[in-house]
Amino acid sequence: MSRYDLSLSDLGEVLAGEPPYRARQVWAGLYHRLVPPAELTDLPATLRARLGSDPRLTPALTPSRELSADAGQTLKWLWSLSDGAAVETVLMHYASRSTVCVSSQAGCAMGCGFCATGQAGFTRHLSTGEIVEQVVAAARACRQAGRRLSNVVFMGMGEPLANYPRVWAAVERIHDELGLSARHITLSTVGLVPGVRRLSRERLPVGLAVSLHAANDSLRDRLLPINRRWPLGVLMAACEEYVASSGRRLSFEWALMDGVNDSRSDAAQLAGRARPLRAHVNLIPLNPTPGWPARGTPPAGVQQFARELRELGVNVTVRRNRGLAIDAACGQLAGAGSAGAHPVPLSRSGL
Ligand code: SAH
Ligand code: SF4
Repeated sequence: MSRYDLSLSDLGEVLAGEPPYRARQVWAGLYHRLVPPAELTDLPATLRARLGSDPRLTPALTPSRELSADAGQTLKWLWSLSDGAAVETVLMHYASRSTVCVSSQAGCAMGCGFCATGQAGFTRHLSTGEIVEQVVAAARACRQAGRRLSNVVFMGMGEPLANYPRVWAAVERIHDELGLSARHITLSTVGLVPGVRRLSRERLPVGLAVSLHAANDSLRDRLLPINRRWPLGVLMAACEEYVASSGRRLSFEWALMDGVNDSRSDAAQLAGRARPLRAHVNLIPLNPTPGWPARGTPPAGVQQFARELRELGVNVTVRRNRGLAIDAACGQLAGAGSAGAHPVPLSRSGL
């Protein structure tokens, strides 16, 4: 239990014996003022001291490292959790928005070989409070920089739909209490079909990003092992259901790997998947990780692939690579930092 795991009524129990309005006051401190209870100077000093030492109100995250890149526009936190597990959070400032990329698990069990988190394996699910507190830390950093946190993306460590109940409770808290709109919250999934279906029945139409990376089953089976369980046909049907029920546009993430998924025929197959769903494609050259032999497609190849997709009638964005210098870019988060990542044998890839 940590301070952002508590519900308002849990907080009422922590404040038993105090006037009823105190719980709301402390809640507003946590979610609007973004300060810990012990720093709420409008509370009586004795109460502040009591709250400061209550184990139910401890923070979930202790910063073990804070790094910045891109002239201070990208910030990465490496957090240590109460049991010693490590996760990372990345905040990116852009001209008109500030986006935080949060982790939903310590490690990941999905085993995508090209991803540093996948290479490190699974440690555990994060609690709702551990997820929400990452967003609060980012919102506070934005406030200190005279900005406002505008977007939350679940593209840090872990597979959010594998930790569904805690992730969804965090989404509701971020929406209801921190005040971000559903259209500014995006879940990214490797393609857990039951999770995508469940998302279709939720009240909040959050954005959905599907990490596609391959548009035929034989390549996708090799790159993303989960495809063997839920192949493309089944995944596309679940995506269609999500688009119909949420009214939201879907996005497909595609990490371009040199000579692996960047040919003209890959573009044609991708277009064939994206067009019927009117999905937006985000391209990014594969970021380097210690345990995977393929390289990112060089810039000219990325532009060529984007052009081919556009000619085939697909909406495409080439994503800027943020935080490469501090291993904060997509797929590079490994918890212990790159020095602690465990390379896997190159022969495993078969690429
Ligand atoms: N598990 C979720 C969300 C976390 S990964 C998912 O897979 O969607 C966030 C994004 O980074 C995903 O799109 C993932 O495919 C991508 N990614 C992983 N490793 C990468 C790498 N080495 N280079 C570029 N993108 C990568
Ligand atoms: Fe997990 Fe996503 Fe990395 Fe795959 S890409 S191992 S699902 S974090």
